Amino acid sequence: MAHGPRVIVAGAGALGLNVALALADAGCAVTVCDPAKAPQASSVAAGMLAPVFETVLDGGDDADLDLLLSARNLWPALAARAGVEVDRSGTAAVGSAAWLAPVRAGLTRLGFRGADLPSSLLMGLAPGVSADVEALFLREDWRLDPRQALKVLRQAAEAVGVAFKAQAVRERGDADWLVIATGAAQGLADVAPELHKLTPIKGQILRYADRRGGRVSLRGEGAYAVPGADGLAIGATMEPGRDDAEPDAASLAPLVAAAARLFPELAGATFGVSAGVRAASPDGRPLVGASVTPGVILAVGARRNGWLLSPLVARIVTAQVTGADPGPYATRFDPARFAA
Ligand SMILES: Cc1cc2nc3c(=O)[nH]c(=O)nc-3n(C[C@H](O)[C@H](O)[C@H](O)COP(=O)(O)OP(=O)(O)OC[C@H]3O[C@@H](n4cnc5c(N)ncnc54)[C@H](O)[C@@H]3O)c2cc1C
Repeated sequence: MAHGPRVIVAGAGALGLNVALALADAGCAVTVCDPAKAPQASSVAAGMLAPVFETVLDGGDDADLDLLLSARNLWPALAARAGVEVDRSGTAAVGSAAWLAPVRAGLTRLGFRGADLPSSLLMGLAPGVSADVEALFLREDWRLDPRQALKVLRQAAEAVGVAFKAQAVRERGDADWLVIATGAAQGLADVAPELHKLTPIKGQILRYADRRGGRVSLRGEGAYAVPGADGLAIGATMEPGRDDAEPDAASLAPLVAAAARLFPELAGATFGVSAGVRAASPDGRPLVGASVTPGVILAVGARRNGWLLSPLVARIVTAQVTGADPGPYATRFDPARFAA
């Protein structure tokens, strides 16, 4: 039985589970509460751990590359600790020479050099990919299977005494700390007003159950492709301001077209759709650290990189609870940066 601080973690997604496991490993008595059967954004995600291509292709701030790489570098130890399967085969950017030129320039600006893949090699790594594309391969971006990761993180947490309750949290109660890891939900905004800073961004992702897609993830024009045990995932829409997780065929046409450009055999193929809601702060970085409300810590707002960032978020939250050094990135995540 743990004798450290009593902590309630609201939310059992990527952030909540990682926080709970790290806190329990540090000796805290942790209870995770979540009323949902499956955490919405974390379970539909593609699972890319992609510090480099997210920076180059998603307009990320180059100055944050160091923290994204640091977060990624925490994954091998976490994989060993909890049994998360991390695939480090790498990622190829694929497209026309004109589309790849700024990607190549972006990599160079960040200090990376992608390897040009001859088409025979690309076909071996990603069978069925369009014969019209060129490819730039990078080992730095990895991936995991979100559903496998959620399962084993929960098992690892339970094995070190974390209790799970299928209920919503409304207040800290008599716990020493409440960690809010509720994704895009606003239900606890009266407890932590910082949650009002979050904007929802709906994301829809296609899954072609009978296609595997090969061994590496692909980043293409208007879509990425991630192979997985339950099929080839093609993602994802970015729909700011929408907080519903309902699949919506009307907004999928550009993604379906991009999928067929990447893999011509996908034209007309049957796919499933899942949707989740990402939470984004005004500067795109998460809100991690003390709320203005005493005893409350935020772990929200990880936007497109929640899986990637979750071990780093867990480390910062654990330091806050135990009084340890939160490391060099805590100030960039501090919720107080938006205080008027
Ligand atoms: C289509 C799509 C693709 C993505 N691809 C990637 C990717 O490739 N790589 C990557 O790193 N990230 C990706 N992301 C982003 C990533 O999924 C999110 O950043 C991450 O999952 C957020 O995790 P979370 O734990 O903060 O939130 P969630 O997974 O949303 O979990 C929050 C949980 O809190 C619970 N909750 C809400 N209110 C309460 C309450 N009052 N009490 C208790 N529980 C509550 C909810 O039920 C929910 O289960 C993707 C997202 C989407 C939508």
